[in-house]
Amino acid sequence: MENIDVIYQKMGIRKSVTDFGARIADSLQERFHAIDDVSEYNQLKVIHAMQKNRVNDACFQYASGYGYDDLGRDTLEKVYADVFHTEDALVRPQVTCGTHALSLALGANLRPGDELLSPVGKPYDTLEEVIGIRPSKGSLAEYGITYSQVDLLPDGSFDYENIKKSIHEKTRLITIQRSKGYQTRPSFSVAQIGELIRFVKKIKPDVICMVDNCYGEFVETIEPSDVGADMVVGSLIKNPGGGLAPIGGYIAGRKDLIENCGYRLTSPGLGKEVGASLGVMQSFYQGLFLAPVVTASALKGAILAANIYENLGYHVVPNGKESRHDIIQAVTFGIPEAVIAFCKGIQAAAPVDSYVTPEPWAMPGYDSDVIMAAGAFVQGSSIELSADGPIKPPYAVYFQGGLTWPHAKLGILMSLEYLVREGIVSL
Ligand SMILES: *Cc1c(COP(=O)(O)O)cnc(C)c1O
Repeated sequence: MENIDVIYQKMGIRKSVTDFGARIADSLQERFHAIDDVSEYNQLKVIHAMQKNRVNDACFQYASGYGYDDLGRDTLEKVYADVFHTEDALVRPQVTCGTHALSLALGANLRPGDELLSPVGKPYDTLEEVIGIRPSKGSLAEYGITYSQVDLLPDGSFDYENIKKSIHEKTRLITIQRSKGYQTRPSFSVAQIGELIRFVKKIKPDVICMVDNCYGEFVETIEPSDVGADMVVGSLIKNPGGGLAPIGGYIAGRKDLIENCGYRLTSPGLGKEVGASLGVMQSFYQGLFLAPVVTASALKGAILAANIYENLGYHVVPNGKESRHDIIQAVTFGIPEAVIAFCKGIQAAAPVDSYVTPEPWAMPGYDSDVIMAAGAFVQGSSIELSADGPIKPPYAVYFQGGLTWPHAKLGILMSLEYLVREGIVSL
């Protein structure tokens, strides 16, 4: 075989970059083994759920019209319920994205006069409009649903004292975001989430605990639904879609709550009975099948990025040694030029649209310009190698995804190559 450096150089990456990357990657072998062990467990969990529910060729058939008795859809929802150890699930192409799934889970289970509480600080940017933190048409606030928030303590831990004070008779639902999203706070382990849920339920046993599970699926061997969450919610163009799902969101949880979500998604009286799967089922099943290994590839990429940039003196969250609770890696560069160079490198390493130059842009749902690098097979898919950099202090990039480990590695090396070319980093 030709020396690997030769093909890296053909692709525009200098030897000092590949040497530096190889040295860091070599030091991470033990952690990569541990990630492979988790993915082996989760792979078995998924296959076991598919076997138990007798997944078969008929599940992949095209269904149209009302979609009554859509076998593929109904069986997939049972598979998801088994993977997450919940009573039921809603997994559909009609759920257009993660924000929609979260909005649905909230809107379906809150009523006027109820209060929603986030005990983990500000939620993901797009949820600000769902809740009405930023005034928005159709928000929960417009329907008379109030919101309260308890920020994390300065060290990133839960502020139990103020959480306790914020739970009262109107508190109906608690939303816990597992991943940091676009913040530099730590992401939570499933065990930490379990501890928070136990605390909250002791104060108010009938409060609904929902977890925004985006980017967290299959990172650990257990999910928030294994530690008391009543609903877990996520996007199929992130981890559980395995890169193959072309659209979709899921909600897995308690039967009565999922039933409400069904009525909200389609119509009162119709619920989960309608909603044809329109030929996407094979990609949903096959994507879920691949998801544990795809998530492992993305995790290895995140850990490599953390260790490379930490070694170069940048602040990285999580740091190079910490255990992982989601696939996002934040790197704080402090200057916009570095954010832009990093994203250009990620773009240049993509299999699709590698010749495109990303530029900062005002995106709907975000409150500053954002530069987004993604050369994805599925538009906007962030289980595929991608990076987002809001152009505002502290000038951090959020890097995630990689359907295969070699591609994740190429992307990170290319980002470093671009930083070297711009004179921002010298090796
Ligand atoms: C991505 C994400 C969302 C929203 O999902 P979209 O599919 O982009 O709408 C919500 N919460 C978190 C933590 C996320 O990472």
